Amino acid sequence: MAAQTSSTQHIIVIGGGNAGFCAALAASDAGATVTVLERAPKKLAGGNSAFTAGLMRCAYDGMEDIDAIVELSDEQKRTTEFGSYSSQTFYEDLGRITEFKCDPDLAHTLTFKSHETLTWMKEHNIRFDAA
Ligand SMILES: Cc1cc2nc3c(=O)[nH]c(=O)nc-3n(C[C@H](O)[C@H](O)[C@H](O)COP(=O)(O)OP(=O)(O)OC[C@H]3O[C@@H](n4cnc5c(N)ncnc54)[C@H](O)[C@@H]3O)c2cc1C
Repeated sequence: MAAQTSSTQHIIVIGGGNAGFCAALAASDAGATVTVLERAPKKLAGGNSAFTAGLMRCAYDGMEDIDAIVELSDEQKRTTEFGSYSSQTFYEDLGRITEFKCDPDLAHTLTFKSHETLTWMKEHNIRFDAA
């Protein structure tokens, strides 16, 4: 949820979950000053991310795509077979798990832009580990 007061002035983001903080970062990138309003008490800050154990599913094609996001150690590169997980498979998994009740356009954006999105988050100093 984001309320925009003007293009490059002061943006108010309502909700400090993953989406809210990404919106805040994007607004800051665009030169705005940003305020994030969160209704939860501090100890519950961060939204539902706390329930995910930090997990985010992401499409990738081989070790290089993983390395671009998580900075694998030399040992992990040497000893791990990462395989691949295509955007199309992610899209089909999301449809299957939700019994095709998800919005197809939003699901397509989520799955086909997942690697690009995590790369963007990493560029904004959000750190990931491979699970
Ligand atoms: C049990 C569980 C397990 C999950 N596991 C995974 C997983 O393994 N992998 C994965 O990728 N995803 C997982 N998810 C989904 C993931 O957590 C969510 O997709 C993601 O956290 C949603 O982020 P969000 O910012 O959109 O919403 P939220 O995290 O819900 O953040 C919304 C924030 O807005 C605040 N807010 C709401 N209304 C107001 C208001 N009026 N004023 C001020 N603040 C307000 C809320 O307090 C909250 O902090 C899981 C979710 C749950 C519940």
